[in-house]
Amino acid sequence: MTTSTRIAVPIMLSDAAADAKTAVAAVRAGADLIEWRMDQATPAMVDTLFADSAVRTIPWILTVRPTWEGGKFAGDDLSRLALIQAAVNYQPEFLDLELKTWTGCPPIAHYYRSLERDRRPKLILSSHHFDRRPENPAEILSAIAAHSEAGVAKIAFTASGVQDALDALELYESLKAYPHLQGVFLAMGEHGTISRTLAGKYGAAFTFGVLPGGASTAPGQPLITELIDIYRLKAQRPDWSVFGLIGFPVAQSVSPHMHNAAMHAAGFPGVYVRFPLPGEFSAFERTIERLRADRRLHLRGLSVTIPHKENACRFVKAAEGEIRGRDVGAINTILFSGAKPIGLNTDAPGGLSALLDGAGWTAADLNGRHMAIIGAGGAAAGLASILADHGCRLTIYNRNLPRAESLAAQLRSRGGECQALPLGDLNLHDVDAMIQCTPVGMHPHIDAMPVPDTLPLRPGTVVMDTIYNPRRTRLLRWATDRGAVCIEGVNMLVGQGALQFEAFTGLAAPVDMMRDAACRGLGL
Ligand code: NAP
Repeated sequence: MTTSTRIAVPIMLSDAAADAKTAVAAVRAGADLIEWRMDQATPAMVDTLFADSAVRTIPWILTVRPTWEGGKFAGDDLSRLALIQAAVNYQPEFLDLELKTWTGCPPIAHYYRSLERDRRPKLILSSHHFDRRPENPAEILSAIAAHSEAGVAKIAFTASGVQDALDALELYESLKAYPHLQGVFLAMGEHGTISRTLAGKYGAAFTFGVLPGGASTAPGQPLITELIDIYRLKAQRPDWSVFGLIGFPVAQSVSPHMHNAAMHAAGFPGVYVRFPLPGEFSAFERTIERLRADRRLHLRGLSVTIPHKENACRFVKAAEGEIRGRDVGAINTILFSGAKPIGLNTDAPGGLSALLDGAGWTAADLNGRHMAIIGAGGAAAGLASILADHGCRLTIYNRNLPRAESLAAQLRSRGGECQALPLGDLNLHDVDAMIQCTPVGMHPHIDAMPVPDTLPLRPGTVVMDTIYNPRRTRLLRWATDRGAVCIEGVNMLVGQGALQFEAFTGLAAPVDMMRDAACRGLGL
């Protein structure tokens, strides 16, 4: 039988009354355990805490972490023992002792062994490495496993890349050699995030989450609400497929909100996580090879963002995979369903479907329509290219005219009807739609306008903004006041995500649900 990974909320005890309230709130939010960090507590404080009957009902881990292992307890072994003894009276489910304490502090180890079996908390033997990943984490696991009293092996180290996080997850495979042990293996920091978000799939005994606004006790601890609502940690199973967003930075992306909500709604056994990865092609290639080779991970697909869209295209070609759709040298999606990877780009088709839905047009309606595109960067190039393919007449307006001219020339060379003009010449009198592809008006500069307020705009003109934060940009409010048909950037975001979801899972995307999830993630 598979048991769910539990979620522990760490609380550094400092003010018993306030901390008791935090513990109760954590349980309400879905915590299964509280890790009471008693590094700075006194026996009297412990008594005050457990005088609260609500606190006494919550399963808990007792930890008094010394400074030499990254904690805050600065006293000697005997005063630590006294604190542990005072706290054990309140029946913790687990006692976390550092492996170094177990082997190097006989009074504490002796005290634990002297406890009657039914009063003994389950022993977590832990090892923390804040500088970097230790040389051989499996050796540490074997050293912990050598102590028959240990019930849980906990190893935490700071990750310098995704590969370190995979090393942490691989320890769950090594753990199989020790059937008496459960494991908690954590790669700390931003790069270690999958060691926490995939903890359920790998069968961790528990993992740590913090309350919104609460303090963490180690770098990289996610919010408990994210673990439960986004990553569905307690529902994860070992055979679930894994998808994710690779790039850097990825911490702000709402793709996990959208894709996990969609998988949940569709009953699809999978989870979508973040793979933070800066760097060049070689780092990208190495990481992808490692992710694909991991037998327990079941990586099935990736969304790709800055700085790897070109690297992803190169990777698929180098692996003799297939690029679906027009090859523009950059992709935002890789599928790993067969022996060879498949690359595709859903950005521009996602933008196109948002445009068609919002305007009430079919693809056939596009032929001969005049579109004004503002901007000549990546988003503009993708949309201009797909609109040219559908027979639109395009005018590309850009601050940097040579850039717009180069894009227009490229589209003309493929048979498109396209001209480039300086942004100052913007004129919308005969356009069917204007598509805004610059960051002007994006959070936090929400009062900025990419076009002059005084620009004439015919009622009924379609105005699409690619910016999705804020949802209603100043441009869209301006255009609404003039009777335009307005399309929000969030629809393009959801459009590309929905196409990705369909490519990942083969299922129809629940688009409205993905939009709601994206907006919740963006706080809109
Ligand atoms: P990009 O490649 O950096 O291009 C930026 C474009 O904006 C360039 O044409 C640039 O003009 C222009 N620009 C920048 N600052 C400007 C300013 N102050 N005044 C006038 N023009 C300015 O960026 P991108 O990837 O195309 O992204 C552009 C926008 O699209 C962003 O706001 C992004 O949020 C949005 N986007 C949305 C989605 C979605 O799913 N909704 C997807 C992709 C992108 P120069 O050439 O003169 O520098």
